[in-house]
Amino acid sequence: MLELFSLKDKVAIITGASRGLGRPMAKGLAAAGAHTVLVARDAAKLAEVRDEIIAAGGQATVLPLDLMDEGAIRSGVRRIAGELGRIDISVNNAGIINWQPVLDSDLEDFERIMEVNVKATFIMAQECAAVMRAGGRGGRIINLGSLLSTVGRARLHAYCASKSAIVGLTRAMAAELGRDNITANVIAPGYFVTDINASLTGRPGYIEAVNGVTPMERWGRPEELVGTLIYLASAASGFVTGQVINVDGGIQSSFTFQLAA
Ligand code: NAP
Repeated sequence: MLELFSLKDKVAIITGASRGLGRPMAKGLAAAGAHTVLVARDAAKLAEVRDEIIAAGGQATVLPLDLMDEGAIRSGVRRIAGELGRIDISVNNAGIINWQPVLDSDLEDFERIMEVNVKATFIMAQECAAVMRAGGRGGRIINLGSLLSTVGRARLHAYCASKSAIVGLTRAMAAELGRDNITANVIAPGYFVTDINASLTGRPGYIEAVNGVTPMERWGRPEELVGTLIYLASAASGFVTGQVINVDGGIQSSFTFQLAA
């Protein structure tokens, strides 16, 4: 049965592998058997992750690049496909956020968020899908959405727009690439303590406020995304495509009111 979840002999590329949610997810892909290609800007941190994977008996390669550089993404993916002979799994996890009021925000900020969160995801997934199709072995595209793919949040219009776009992009890729046995799905996390929400977790009462609207009454631990990731990356999810899987302690499927009923 465990065979179903094995990524042995597969090649996986994951963005945002230097820290946050991407780091444990990258290690999870490698622990499941995939040769894991680690993408982010910080080459030193990527080398640390690679060394940890290799020390644990896995295989990893670093691919430091800025996701705002289209040419670097395209040439990087092509080089990896040439060197490793295949790409089976594309995990588009890197993302950025910025808090700005709608009426007092600049277009530059909006464009930067869309560029990293959406455009780079598209370019990376497009390049990887071309390699997958040419290999004839199918593949897996897994994009990171958010709780804010579904609901709006004040002062996060660009981030919310980008995370909703991820869902549309993923569903469209699923619709088109299914015939090539390439699936495309979204993992939508709720609240996890990482750098992306460092500006919130330092605010008095914020951690507790999130606990209060989450049925499981706590924040997620980054390692808790690994099981869903391996499921979507492996044969276990062979007929699952175009889906959004919320990993959020139940926050999206419940309505919490401050006063007891
Ligand atoms: P994080 O801790 O801030 O990490 C972001 C990652 O993205 C880092 O590895 C960073 O690496 C990489 N990155 C950012 N800009 C980049 C660029 N221009 N080029 C290449 N890499 C870049 O964020 P996280 O919490 O792990 O979030 C991961 C994903 O989950 C994001 O898509 C986020 O929107 C989503 N998410 C997170 C939460 C949460 O609660 N944490 C909730 C919902 C959704 P370098 O700085 O080394 O480049």
